[in-house]
Amino acid sequence: MRKEEKMMDNKEIPYKIYLEEHEMPKQWYNLRADMKNKPAPLLNPGTGKPVTLEEMSGIFCEELAKQELDDQTPYIDIPDEILQFYKMYRPAPLVRAYHLEKYLNTPAKIYYKFEGNNTSGSHKLNSAIAQAYYAKKQGLKGVTTETGAGQWGTALSMACAFLGLDCQVYMVKVSYEQKPFRREVMRTYGADVTPSPSDKTEVGRKIRAQFPDTNGSLGCAISEAVEAAVTQEGYRYVLGSVLTQVLIHQSVIGLETKIALDKYGEKPDIIIGCAGGGSNLGGLIAPFMGEKLRGEADYRVIAVEPASCPSFTRGTYAYDFCDTGAICPLAKMYTLGSSFMPAPNHAGGLRYHGMSSVLSQLYDDNYMEAVSVTQTEVFEAAEQFARVEGILPAPESSHAIRVAMDEAIRCRETGEEKTILFGLTGTGYFDMYAYEKFNDGEMENYTLTDEEIAESIAKLPKVPGQE
Ligand SMILES: *Cc1c(COP(=O)(O)O)cnc(C)c1O
Repeated sequence: MRKEEKMMDNKEIPYKIYLEEHEMPKQWYNLRADMKNKPAPLLNPGTGKPVTLEEMSGIFCEELAKQELDDQTPYIDIPDEILQFYKMYRPAPLVRAYHLEKYLNTPAKIYYKFEGNNTSGSHKLNSAIAQAYYAKKQGLKGVTTETGAGQWGTALSMACAFLGLDCQVYMVKVSYEQKPFRREVMRTYGADVTPSPSDKTEVGRKIRAQFPDTNGSLGCAISEAVEAAVTQEGYRYVLGSVLTQVLIHQSVIGLETKIALDKYGEKPDIIIGCAGGGSNLGGLIAPFMGEKLRGEADYRVIAVEPASCPSFTRGTYAYDFCDTGAICPLAKMYTLGSSFMPAPNHAGGLRYHGMSSVLSQLYDDNYMEAVSVTQTEVFEAAEQFARVEGILPAPESSHAIRVAMDEAIRCRETGEEKTILFGLTGTGYFDMYAYEKFNDGEMENYTLTDEEIAESIAKLPKVPGQE
């Protein structure tokens, strides 16, 4: 090889790989189009039959209901208004973690896609603007939603403020109390924020009567938000994770990543993401998993979940309710049972009983792996990462950091020069209460007992073919 050719080959990879505006993806990618085993259909809990577009449209905006049911169209044009909004905070940087590599003394190359570069502090804005846009286009007055850690509610309130839509947020009680500043960001963007369970809804009142000391849960807040949507004229419900439409919008993460890596001829061996409902992971892996499904390339994909809420690693693959109040359609997914009330883990965004039905099917078909980690090991990784890479990560994102670091350490031991890509979904500035607990040595690990899991699994709904 001639000298200059060699230099071309070794094109130095910058610390941050940015894309030009014109290189940004103009279409989302719908992974289901390339899945041979499609995710099982959503079922109407009343009839046990697949939900129809008409039934879905009572709860969701029509265009979003269409996306939810579409498992054929691979590429969906991103409307121009959404592209213009994306340009305010995208493309998100793809970072080569040189400092982390050096700190770990690993031969592995580590990349992370950083989605915390916007005021909401996470990837959730990618879908929030899309959902608010379709609601506005349909002429609605407003939307209702739940929020766990607060990132989704913040993202949605930003999107609604931009488009002039009313935004009502049911916030999981423990987060409402632990994260007063998140609540204020939402109110600054004009949202109406209610701690859940509340007495504003019938389902909220019922849950409070049954569990007076509850910290709340995502499933329960979802039930309240759905009830609020269907009982108010001109409102629809929007959800920040789990649903397939959300994975479609989040595919922008993976598409940008792939374009950036391709510029430098880089190909990840391992792709890692934290998994709450599965939207950031589903988005990050989308184009890579597409190649894997079509037999064009192979990647190892790892979902990381908290030991206190291990839907993939210890859940059951079955039809379940997406919410505690059992109002939403039934989805077939890896679940801990919709009656499951997770321990107050500090990664609020990962405290959900179920998992995206797309990722559940891929996991069941062995296209991806999953691991669970305890919160103290997660915060150890978060602190090391913050100290060498500068960014203070969200507790959720730090689950992915933990496993990326573990894989890089394994490479140090085996001498393998793997390329590791992980999703850094957000920043942790509103999680300082959790960091405080960790710094004071007061953080506890909670691992579920088999009995606790069996108890909520025993309450799975009865569906034809599922005993
Ligand atoms: C919501 C959230 C998650 C988890 O949700 P997914 O739908 O699984 O992506 C992860 N990280 C951050 C920062 C979040 O806000």
